[in-house]
Order: sequence, then structure tokens, then C-alpha cells
Amino acid sequence: MSTGPETGAFALHLGKIAAALDRFVEFEHPDALVNADVWRKQLGGPLPSDGAGIDAVIAELTDVLIPNGARISEPGFSGFITTGPTTAPVAAATASAIAAPQRYTMNAFNFVEETSLLWLAELAGLGPHMKGVYVSGGSVANLVALGAARQHAYEAVGIDPGAEGLNGLSPVIYTSSEAHHTIQRAAGVLGLGRSAVRFVPIDERQRMRPDALEEMMAADRAAGLLPVAVAAAAGTTNTGAIDPLAALGDIARSHGVWFHVDGAYGLLGRLDERVADRFAGLEHADSVIVDPHKWLAAPVGVAAAFVRDRAILHRAFTQGPAEYLEGSFVAEDDVHNSLDSMGIPYGDFAVELSAPARGVQVWAIIRELGVSGIREFIVHDNDLARRVTTAARDHPRLEALIEPELSIACFRYRPPNQSPAGLNGLNERILRRLVRETAFVPSATVVAGSYAIRPCYINRRSTIADVDGMVEAVVRIGDDESGRSAAPAI
Ligand SMILES: *Cc1c(COP(=O)(O)O)cnc(C)c1O
Repeated sequence: MSTGPETGAFALHLGKIAAALDRFVEFEHPDALVNADVWRKQLGGPLPSDGAGIDAVIAELTDVLIPNGARISEPGFSGFITTGPTTAPVAAATASAIAAPQRYTMNAFNFVEETSLLWLAELAGLGPHMKGVYVSGGSVANLVALGAARQHAYEAVGIDPGAEGLNGLSPVIYTSSEAHHTIQRAAGVLGLGRSAVRFVPIDERQRMRPDALEEMMAADRAAGLLPVAVAAAAGTTNTGAIDPLAALGDIARSHGVWFHVDGAYGLLGRLDERVADRFAGLEHADSVIVDPHKWLAAPVGVAAAFVRDRAILHRAFTQGPAEYLEGSFVAEDDVHNSLDSMGIPYGDFAVELSAPARGVQVWAIIRELGVSGIREFIVHDNDLARRVTTAARDHPRLEALIEPELSIACFRYRPPNQSPAGLNGLNERILRRLVRETAFVPSATVVAGSYAIRPCYINRRSTIADVDGMVEAVVRIGDDESGRSAAPAI
């Protein structure tokens, strides 16, 4: 009954999974209601003492798990900054899981690991001097990049923090109040402390203010603190704001301080020529991160961290000598077999050793679409955010809360005579009902104190109809809610 990993088994079983996935993304499944009781019965239970066999596992995957998966791939999903992956990178991920279960050894997947990093750097406007390493997400990419910054700052005062640890200095990382919170977590993990992160005030477009940065840095230096990095955002998570990279990079450089650019979400936005100039100054960056699992439709688990020289990553993150790894190297011109060499030692450039060959996913989507195809959908996504904003501006009961920089829009329902205090609760209820009752699933944020409905368009399946449908649904539910909540004043 059960088949093992012998010849032909992958095709047989993955064929069934593929058919179930097709039904899932075509929404042929009945609307899955979260039913933890059913899951407990069908998927949970006590630790199995005997195996049910591969056929049972495949059937449970196709019949129970896949139809009860997450709504993130749906065209109406525009929540958070996450998306359903498309076919080419999923196919590549599946292929590498089987054909190259590790990213090391001299094999074709290891080769495209580096090729894809070079392509991704060029696509992101970084230039060939920036060398990368893949990690599991933007959180780890920020950690790795700031690990390089820590190495740089401490080496300059005669300490090797990777080898010796920190030494009683008071480090500071500058970022804006809109920065992703993984900057703080990275500071904590790196031993700098979350309290080392100082928040530079922002301007009216939610961008870090260079004048404020300059002032804070000068004061901190005079007080004997050790500036470790300026961490700017190329596309903030809340609103897609792009910090003024050129001015911030100049200041960081004039102080000899590491300049990090967090482009996890927004960096590929530069492919849209209408906004490309907002990324000027990227060339000053000492480190840059970008998440192919955000705007490049890869399955979750793929981010890249780039630095000028991976040797600093090696100093920051090496495990130290390991006989069991290095024993397998032979001279480069003597490599005949994939196991003759480990290939590029990515496992020494960050915090993971065993890791999937992720680069093939990036290689696959760039190969599939080319720069022109990728540019086309980036422009389309930026257009969708502008369309929401225009609709909100034109409608008497909607209000646009930001001018989109990239593919994030922020707006709210605002009926006449509603007190500002009531608006936040009203829009929160609208969002809850959108998620529960409609096919449109944006998320929310707070912009200058106002609760905002916040669609972020990176989903390759989203169309103009999804934008218009969402806006109409917000008005319909808003009218309904504000009618209902017109309780007599007390
Ligand atoms: C999403 C995001 C992160 C974190 O990335 P993950 O891949 O979710 O770990 C960091 N910075 C920014 C600007 C982001 O948008």
C-alpha cells in the first residue's frame, strides 16, 4: 500500500498535490470555515504508534489540509506585506527540496544561488559590488546586515565582537519611528540591546529627517556613545515611505558609520520609473536587504542580505573551524564531483548552516518574467494603490490618509458628522466585516493617530476589479455600520 521514495513515487504523489493546489487557487474548495474541532479529529489525536502510510498522508494533505489552508493567495487579499507565491518559484522550491536538499556542494543549484544573487542585486539597483547571502526572511536579513555593522563599528575601536563579544561600550543604532521592529530585535539578539535603537523623528511623509539624525548623532558622539548603524527604510511597512537615502547616507558616511537600507518590501519599487528617483542614494549603502518572498512572489522563506564584502559577514558569523565541513574541500581546479567542494560557504556568512537552496526560486521568477515582466507587475501594483487613493479622494464618505509612495494605500470611511474619536472604532468594525463577509482582505495600520484601512498590493493575482470591489464594500459596510451605530447622544 505505501510507497517510499523510490523511482516514480514523487511524480505520483506530487501529481495529486498539484491537482489539489490547482483547485485551491481556483477557489473550488467550499468556503473553509475555521473548525478546530474537525481538525483535531482528522489531523490531531495522540502520537501515532503505527504509521498510516504515504497514501494516507497524501490523502489528508489533498482532502483536509489544502482546502483548509490560508486565504493569502486570493486575488482580493491585500493584507500585511505577504502574498501567495506563483508557479515558477513554487516549482523551483519543490525541485530543490528534492534535487538539491542543501545549498552547498558543487551542483547546479549552488551555481544559481550565486547567479540569482547577482541578478537580484542588479534588479534592485545595487550594482555588482554588493554580494549577498540568502536567509529565511527580512527579520534574519536585518539581523545579518546589522551583525556586519556591529563588526564594522567595534573593529574600528579595536574589538572583534564576533570573536570576543562586546566590551562595555554604549552602542547606538539610528532608525525612524516607522522602521520595522525587527531592527530592535536584531539589536537585542546581537547583544547591543533593544534600547540601543534610537528613533529619529519623521517628516509629514513618514520619512526619517536627516536634520534630526545629524543632530542626534553629533550629540551622541560628544557623549561618547558608539554609533553602529543608520538603518533607513526603502519602503516602510506601514505606508511604503522611502527615507531620503542620499541625505541619510551622506550623514552616515561623514561620521564613518555603517549605512543600512531595509528594502525588505519596497526596494523593487524602483523598477517603476515614476518613483525610481526616490531611491537615489542607494549606492551609499553598506548593507541592503530585500525579500523575494514579498514583492517577487516567492514562497515564504526567501530574503537576501547584501554587503560590499562578504568577508565581514564571515568575521561576524563564522562558526570557527569545523573539520567535518572543511575536510571535503579539494583544490578548485581539481573539482570533478559535486562532493569535491562545498561551493561558496554561505553557511559561514549568516546564522544558518543547513539551509535550502533558495536562490533557484529567485532565479526561476527572474528567468520566467525578465526585468520587463517584473517591472510590469510592480507598476501595476503601484497603480492599484493609486486607484484606491483616487477613489477615496473622490468619494464623499471616504478619506485618503496618505499619498502612496509605492503599492500601499491608507484610507478610511468617514461619514459626515462623525466625531474623530468614533472614526477609529467604526473603521475597525468595517475591516472586521470585510474580512469575514467579503472576498476583500486588506489589513490596517495607524497613520498619524488615525486608524487606516491599508491594502498593500503585491499579490500577483490582484486586479482593478479587486480594488473597485473593496472600495465599494467599504462604503456599503460603512453606511450600514454608521446607520446602525447612530445611537442617541447621551
Ligand atoms: C516585512 C518586513 C520586514 C521583516 O521581514 P520578514 O520577511 O517578515 O521577516 C523587515 N523590514 C521591512 C521594511 C518589512 O516590510
